[in-house]
Amino acid sequence: MQQQHRQVQQEAHHEDAATAVTEEECAASIMEIDRLTEMGIPAADIVKLKAAGIYTVPGVHMQCKKDLSNIKGLSEAKVEKVIEAARKLSDTGFVSGSTYLQQRKKVNKITTGSATLDQLLGGGVESMAITEAFGEFRTGKTQLALTLCVTCQLPTSMGGGNGKAIYVDTEATFRPERIRPIAERYGLDPDAALDNIFVARAYTHDHQAHLLAMAAAKMAEDQVCLLIVDSITALFRVDFSGRGELAERQQKLGKMMNCLIKTAEEFNVAVYITNQVVADPGGASMFVADPKKPIGGHVLAHASTTRLSLRKGRGEQRICKIYDSPSLPESECVFSITEQGIADARE
Ligand code: ATP
Ligand code: MG
Repeated sequence: MQQQHRQVQQEAHHEDAATAVTEEECAASIMEIDRLTEMGIPAADIVKLKAAGIYTVPGVHMQCKKDLSNIKGLSEAKVEKVIEAARKLSDTGFVSGSTYLQQRKKVNKITTGSATLDQLLGGGVESMAITEAFGEFRTGKTQLALTLCVTCQLPTSMGGGNGKAIYVDTEATFRPERIRPIAERYGLDPDAALDNIFVARAYTHDHQAHLLAMAAAKMAEDQVCLLIVDSITALFRVDFSGRGELAERQQKLGKMMNCLIKTAEEFNVAVYITNQVVADPGGASMFVADPKKPIGGHVLAHASTTRLSLRKGRGEQRICKIYDSPSLPESECVFSITEQGIADARE
């Protein structure tokens, strides 16, 4: 068994070498904030930017002037210089559709473990986007997260992202022991696979936001290709109660989603979030027996790139439906939850 692992890992290594050019290109596309020194920005100011959670040059473009001016020790004049330097280093202007298409080639698609589900998703869970899975309990949201934590480590040629995973666990359901059988399925060393997953337990929505800022810092220094938040909404539901706090809850949730999509684009990572559902009395009709809608309202609906609705089928089978996507049609497929993670449904 051990020998088999080693062999598969060696093969994976060779495949890594074969894809090295693309990965180097990807690494080169992450322009570190230190490069602002080339434009005359003092190192001390770069330290301040990093302390505020900005680690890349595109990260500067992603902040509004107001937020940059709020950084301690950065005067308005300095902010202007930083913005100008960032614009000179990385062009954020218009590009042609074909150049845009070329840029989209660096998007990774991480396998879910089920070929049918991958096909439904147009190849897998994609980087530079937020994929949200919602559904009732036991529908496989966490099992998909655990599977992705392993498959993301595979070389791109094997449907992986050739990187590590970050897992923000808000419900205490991350199970390290589940990683072993999934890793073994793919011929990965289970201990190494576990070492490549950074897990943090979040206790409040503030803590969750803090952990996501730390996740961005980790991405700046390590090869991370997947960020999981399981679940995105649970702590918001606990920390804000009643109608009186709804506006604040939605505003903070919106800010977090905005931060997630920027992180996904900045570091070319896939963001996978889970969400719960509530009964929707307004959605009841004679055609829909048990209508359930995802929580988070319009804020989540607009911020998630691809929304997947999961529901239970027979036994270990689950059904995934594309609920909303910029490029995929509304269709569904069946997959199953196994000891080795998400897999195709058995006949
Ligand atoms: P929640 O909303 O409660 O977080 P969820 O959608 O995240 O629910 P999951 O934990 O992904 O639910 O799925 C739970 C299901 O996974 C259970 O029905 C269980 O049967 C199945 N499952 C868990 N562990 C295994 C395993 N080792 N082998 C096979 N199936 C498993
Ligand atoms: Mg779960």
